[in-house]
Amino acid sequence: MSMQNLAKYLLSATFAQKYWTMKRITCPKCEHSFSFDESRYRQVKSISFACPACRKHFSLTLDEIEDMNREEIDAPYGYITVIENQFCYRQSYALQPGDNVIGRHSPGSVVNISIQSGDMSMDRRHCIINVKPLADGTARYTLRDNPSLTGTFLRNEILNDRERATLKNEDIVTIGATTFIVYLPEGDEDEYLTE
Ligand SMILES: [Zn+2]
Repeated sequence: MSMQNLAKYLLSATFAQKYWTMKRITCPKCEHSFSFDESRYRQVKSISFACPACRKHFSLTLDEIEDMNREEIDAPYGYITVIENQFCYRQSYALQPGDNVIGRHSPGSVVNISIQSGDMSMDRRHCIINVKPLADGTARYTLRDNPSLTGTFLRNEILNDRERATLKNEDIVTIGATTFIVYLPEGDEDEYLTE
């Protein structure tokens, strides 16, 4: 293994460990989410928390924390996963047939996918993923800007004003400082290669 590869390997191993030991906790009173490093508490049966938002005190067992962090998402039309960044925690949302309006969560704004984030460069109604079910049981997925102030980026390229870009499985979309990955059911990669 070259020095360069070794450095890369060590970096990724450190990252993976940090990622896996960070758990997400949701306050039972106000539903505020925060993360904590589980690896420091391996020996205990239950852990006491004080919610940073509403100050409620509560305790959880490690099993309960595990349940909270299991991603079970019922999504026959696929889902998006928002990547954790300085403004928000990792979160996933199912896609529905029709227009899925995506934006930053804000009280009173009506969108289908309301991302819990402090990222002010993300509009409340930023972009739209349209899911069009087809006769053969599959669906066609397109992405468009709403339009938003900072634009919508697909694979690092900004969408034009009226562009409707076709989405494929594991596409990366950036809105403001926030990035999400689109997971589509049974991604037929070959279909897109012939386009
Ligand atoms: Zn709370």
